[in-house]
Amino acid sequence: MNVRETKQKITLSDLKDAIEHKEFELHYQPKVSMITGEISGAEALIRWRKRDGTLVPPMDFIPLAEESNFIREITKYVFDKLVVDCAVISAVNSAVAISFNTSGKDFHDDELTKIITAAVNSRLIDPTKLEIEVTETILVGEGHAKDCLDQLSELGIPIAMDDFGTGHSGLVELSKWPFSILKIDQKFVRGLNESPKDREILQASIRMAHQLDMDVVAEGIEDEETYRVLQEYGCKTGQGYWISKPLSFIEFILFLKQFENLPAMPVGLLYMAQLDHIQWRKTLIDTALFLHGSNEKRELKNLRGSPELQHTRCKLGLWYYGAGRKLSDIKSYKQLEQPHMRLHAIGKELLSAASNHCSMDELTTLIQRLSEKSLEVLEMLQTLENSLHVDQYSEHSIPVE
Ligand code: C2E
Ligand code: MG
Ligand code: MG
Repeated sequence: MNVRETKQKITLSDLKDAIEHKEFELHYQPKVSMITGEISGAEALIRWRKRDGTLVPPMDFIPLAEESNFIREITKYVFDKLVVDCAVISAVNSAVAISFNTSGKDFHDDELTKIITAAVNSRLIDPTKLEIEVTETILVGEGHAKDCLDQLSELGIPIAMDDFGTGHSGLVELSKWPFSILKIDQKFVRGLNESPKDREILQASIRMAHQLDMDVVAEGIEDEETYRVLQEYGCKTGQGYWISKPLSFIEFILFLKQFENLPAMPVGLLYMAQLDHIQWRKTLIDTALFLHGSNEKRELKNLRGSPELQHTRCKLGLWYYGAGRKLSDIKSYKQLEQPHMRLHAIGKELLSAASNHCSMDELTTLIQRLSEKSLEVLEMLQTLENSLHVDQYSEHSIPVE
């Protein structure tokens, strides 16, 4: 790619001229599912192809465009181009979703929201194959942006918080806005090998996204080791130079056609299942102690944060009967079902006894039985994880999609 530093100061009138002459291009950076190893999407990134052939990177002109309303013209241009490109992209690989970057000013009124809604309603684009990336520039703006994103999210378009962990892209915003994807800033991903703190932040962010049922994307993966570590942490999606640099449209189409899946290792989800289980057990025991100690007769369903009692609906169960099914050829996967069901039966017995103010002896015995069964479940999950690691280095590949 011919990216050269632009020596001359770029002005707004240069940008207006460039848009008039259709000099902006979209490049696509692939994203990979770290669970299945397949391409799951790509991020559209703008470049300015000047008439002399040089390619100007976005950081040389997007900040200037963002200072004025001109960024709105750029976003509309990007979206129009993307809709056309997506028709070809989905014909080559229908599973690929394309994300694009937006700015706070794009949502000061309804214009962009209407354009996107019209494209979706007229079936020019499938909303689930589109993703809107939002940075902190939107979050500091007025309340109208939230209404726009709520509408777009209701339309079925996933909304991603870009550069999570920097600026204002923080926790309060996560709870208020309709985000379903968290893109962890490159700074933390690059710090993985050197900074223990960055490692902890990464792990905690991945865990938090999992608990909020959000997809989590790690940007800036530059080597295989980082990819592997993030996979172990349970990160679902990866993006970075090690997978691919941003590619021109033609290069991207060729890339899609030639791509051989990266190693699939669903071990990260297994790790999440173990943590989910430990958390479930703690909540269950805390709830039992609370019910037992309470003077009033309390209905379990009215308690805030009470544990899920159906073995198919707790987080471990959702994994087991969902994504985990891909491991059903493995012995320890099959062996897990009975102890897990038994564990839930003990859990129900414990809560019922606790709410009926059973004796302290009975309560302690039930908690012990629950803990023993829980250890059995955890050991099986560990055996399953070990067999995946062994499998990774053997010829037999795990049947994951
Ligand atoms: P971003 O949205 O966070 O995009 C990711 C940036 O990280 C891209 O830089 C990408 O090339 C770069 N990147 C990805 N993986 C790696 C890696 O492994 N190592 C390194 N060193 N870099 C990596 P790019 O294309 O220069 O874009 C920079 C920023 O410009 C974007 O950050 C985004 O904020 C903005 N931008 C790009 N296109 C658009 C656009 O169409 N509209 C708006 N509003 N902003 C855009
Ligand atoms: Mg982005
Ligand atoms: Mg980013």
